[in-house]
Amino acid sequence: MKPVVSEALATLIIVLAAALIGAWGWGALGASVMALCVLSLTLLRHLWWLGQLIHWVQAPQESAMPTVSGVWGELCDHLYQQMRKATKETKLVTTELERLRLAAEVLPEGVVILDDHRVIEWMNWEAEACFGLNAATDIGSRLTHLLREPALLDYLNNTTQSAKPLKLITQRNPKHTLQVQTVPFAAGRTLLMVRDVTQLEKLATMRRDFVANVSHELKTPLTVTLGFIETAADALGDASPDEMAHYLRMASEQASRMQSLIEDLLMLSSLETDSPPTESDVDLSALFAGVCEEARVLSAGQQNIRLTMFGPSHLVGSPRELHSVFSNLVTNAVRYTPKGGEIALHWDAGAHGGRFSVTDSGIGIAPEHLPRLTERFYRVDHGRSREMGGTGLGLAIVKHVLERHQAQLDIDSEPGKGSTFTAIFPAHRVR
Ligand code: ADP
Repeated sequence: MKPVVSEALATLIIVLAAALIGAWGWGALGASVMALCVLSLTLLRHLWWLGQLIHWVQAPQESAMPTVSGVWGELCDHLYQQMRKATKETKLVTTELERLRLAAEVLPEGVVILDDHRVIEWMNWEAEACFGLNAATDIGSRLTHLLREPALLDYLNNTTQSAKPLKLITQRNPKHTLQVQTVPFAAGRTLLMVRDVTQLEKLATMRRDFVANVSHELKTPLTVTLGFIETAADALGDASPDEMAHYLRMASEQASRMQSLIEDLLMLSSLETDSPPTESDVDLSALFAGVCEEARVLSAGQQNIRLTMFGPSHLVGSPRELHSVFSNLVTNAVRYTPKGGEIALHWDAGAHGGRFSVTDSGIGIAPEHLPRLTERFYRVDHGRSREMGGTGLGLAIVKHVLERHQAQLDIDSEPGKGSTFTAIFPAHRVR
């Protein structure tokens, strides 16, 4: 039987019993008074329990729940179950929300949630870093009051779902290029995504400059080669064999220039894309002797070239790449040292590591050029470099190779007095 029904029956029986007792003692009036008294007591009991329940519902705590039986007991049980269920669900939702918030916080993209008045409702760390904002103080403020960039204001006003991202440099973070994009969501709210694209922009510029430089470097010798070929073709039959040989020699020189350039470009590209080379034990005595010999051929006796070695003469590395480093440094010394100059190659190794230096008594380099020498196509004197068969890529290759060998390049130079280029290798590479 349901508690409500049994409670009602019990009350009815008690009232009837009281009325019977009243009627037996005092007649009809007694019956009514007794029934009324019992009813009033029952009502008071219910009111008291109701009061207890209201008190508990206002601050529902397990310990404070009233211990009642009957219909009120059942009601309390139901309420208690509901409360436990609701608490459990709230806990679950709170945990999920916290997890989502943490995931949004660590997103590699900046995210800002704006309301329909462009007021910041929430933002993650990346957005704070990109915009130079502080969530603790800036949430609740209008984004456009904090970032007074007309371009951003225009973008926020005109954006549609298919809007293209906007490139932006803000006054708060002027050294960085940002890319922002809005996504409308929920009622009137906007999701503003922001990315720091400074590095990508730099790379794009470098790529553009590189393509322009390569095209320029190839165009000149190609034009000159074509010129000589056309001249030779026009003069065919009229020109003497000596003149023809001269034209062909000139064309061939330009072709060699293009070939050197392409070889250096391929070398650079392989240094950038290939995984580190399989390293072997390189015998420097043989390598330096070869490099020295090449330099003497290039110098054709115009400079005095000496080689000295001290300490262990084996290095762990890529023979091909190391050869290119030493050869580039020595070739430069020959190119930029006038006739009669001195060039000293020196290897010195010990517990500190190994140092290969090339010292020349050549034209030297002004200090302002030194930090840029290893940039691709950077030359102090373009004309002289081209005239000497330089590609402008030699020191860029040297820098790359040394980085792959955990080594570094040191340049010491004084205009008019000469230069010393030193490749410094870490101790663990020296054998
Ligand atoms: P390049 O092919 O023009 O020699 P590099 O990258 O090897 O290109 O060198 C870059 C520039 O550094 C050269 O154009 C030259 O101006 C300068 N340079 C390099 N080595 C020397 C040196 N030994 N003496 C003077 N200048 C040098």
